[in-house]
Amino acid sequence: VGEGEGVGGEQVDDAAEEDEPTDSEPGVLDVAPAVEVAIVLALGGNVGDVRGTLRQAIHDLDAVDGISITAVSPLARTAAVGPEQEDFLNAVVLGWTTLSPRDLLAATSAVEDAHGRVRDQRWGPRTLDLDIVTIEGVVSTDPVLTLPHPRAHERAFVLVPWAQADPDAVLPGLGGGPV
Ligand code: ADP
Ligand code: MG
Repeated sequence: VGEGEGVGGEQVDDAAEEDEPTDSEPGVLDVAPAVEVAIVLALGGNVGDVRGTLRQAIHDLDAVDGISITAVSPLARTAAVGPEQEDFLNAVVLGWTTLSPRDLLAATSAVEDAHGRVRDQRWGPRTLDLDIVTIEGVVSTDPVLTLPHPRAHERAFVLVPWAQADPDAVLPGLGGGPV
């Protein structure tokens, strides 16, 4: 998997220090939609009771004011990228939100944190990784929240469960197409 460009914590820090928004359409991450918009989220983990963690994380997301989960894919098992470690279990969920993109990221990060996510080793073992694949109508190149997710198109563990949850799904943007 050619994950060349890093989107790590250090870049998040850099972005926070800049005065100007780095996304192409300034402010796009802070605009709450007038009506609910479709979202696609990818979950994965390989530490502990992963099935239990994923089930609880989906419940936690659905319980957030302004987030509703409407479909859950079957689980996909994948060999890990990076250091030697357990296989990952992955799933994709569909839903909608009335939150701004930044507030949705805050919510998904809070769910990660609630399940003991520790950001130590890039591509290392994790109890829960929760990525935003798409938010309907939102394009962002900001490293804090890049949409559509820049690596979704090359990740079978996103595309396969997504297609199972929504056979007609289309990934917008560069590298996109029918899922
Ligand atoms: P990865 O998911 O690539 O293994 P992390 O989960 O540690 O890495 O995420 C690193 C950072 O990526 C997060 O702090 C977040 O700000 C940023 N990020 C950028 N775009 C997205 C996105 N579409 N979904 C989730 N996080 C994103
Ligand atoms: Mg992530």
